[in-house]
Amino acid sequence: MESVSLIQLPKAGKKWSSYVMNERLDVTSDPEPDQPKGESSRQVRPFLGIKFACCSIYARIYQNKDGTHYVGNCPKCAKQVRVKIGHGGSNNRFFTAY
Ligand SMILES: [Zn+2]
Repeated sequence: MESVSLIQLPKAGKKWSSYVMNERLDVTSDPEPDQPKGESSRQVRPFLGIKFACCSIYARIYQNKDGTHYVGNCPKCAKQVRVKIGHGGSNNRFFTAY
């Protein structure tokens, strides 16, 4: 299983608690907008960089709850795309949606 982390997690046992506290305190000035709010802030949802052929723009789409597909909408025309997540994975993390 492959997962993509947006943030570097510290080594286990080393300043973990204070790191989490700082994360929470700094959340308003956090330059990373992809932090999931609420729930467990340690879990970062896997995403895929995808090119929407309809509008020729790149955007990120995120894994669904079941972890079977990446789903998202074109930020410009709202067309929905789904990318099936296969076994073994792929090194190519960028796809084009038609
Ligand atoms: Zn579009």
